[in-house]
Amino acid sequence: MKVVTSATDLNAISPARPRVLVPTMGALHDGHLALVKRARELAGTDGEVMLTLFVNPTQFNNPSDLENYPRTMDRDLKLCKEHGVDLVFAPEADSMYQPDHSVNIIESSLSKRLCGATRPGHFEGVCTVVLKLFNLTRSDIAVFGKKDFQQLAIIRRMVRDLNVPITIEGVDTIRESSGLAMSSRNTRLSEKQHADAPRIRRALLAAQDLHAQGEHDPEKLLACAREEIEASTEGAKIDYLELLDAESLQPLEKVTRPAVIATAVFYGEVRLIDNIELG
Ligand code: AMP
Repeated sequence: MKVVTSATDLNAISPARPRVLVPTMGALHDGHLALVKRARELAGTDGEVMLTLFVNPTQFNNPSDLENYPRTMDRDLKLCKEHGVDLVFAPEADSMYQPDHSVNIIESSLSKRLCGATRPGHFEGVCTVVLKLFNLTRSDIAVFGKKDFQQLAIIRRMVRDLNVPITIEGVDTIRESSGLAMSSRNTRLSEKQHADAPRIRRALLAAQDLHAQGEHDPEKLLACAREEIEASTEGAKIDYLELLDAESLQPLEKVTRPAVIATAVFYGEVRLIDNIELG
């Protein structure tokens, strides 16, 4: 396995074979490894799996979240090696952004709500870095998790609208046995918060069950989910909880089309996200 740490060095290596990219911010867990597994399948024996480890500063709107984001480079490299990654790109921030960097990608529809509304500038940072990684790595396919439902939708839209020559593949959310979606931020939860946090999943499943029983009113479905989250004994605080059209990410008056309920919940300073699809 090769490790490259600067954009210039990466540019010098042209892909000799089909390349499948897995962009991450590191602190790898089984969710990331499911993406690597899918990438390995898509690359086949002839192709190459490339994983990027980069805690992108421009997508953090909260300096303390950036500062406290877990960084476990040695362990990450070991996991990459064990899981068949061929090439790791782990750039320093100053090799990715020029001091007078002035061009950014702005998605202006799907990013209006959810994380886009509560984390101003987040998706501008994400789109910009992801497009830079697509350009730098010249990958054929890129694999993303459905845990970040809105991110995946926005990246698909960027690729469509800017004719980026890459195929995007989505992978289902990997969960702990409790149902809690795996996240690098889970390591920052206290033991009690960690035990309480699976209620996020239970809340979304309860709303999904209610929908399956014939309830189509978004307010009632959201109230059902909200009740479970607000019963938290660890002071879970809802950042957002919304039911949206799964494609346009716009609110629905009635759930008559495929929809998604997405939520972000704070446990102290730690913000966790999850979502569930309806219909
Ligand atoms: P991150 O390192 O959190 O930026 O995530 C890198 C990629 O891994 C993104 O495409 C995420 O959607 C994906 N990912 C993170 N957690 C999970 C999970 N629990 N299951 C599946 N994919 C995930």
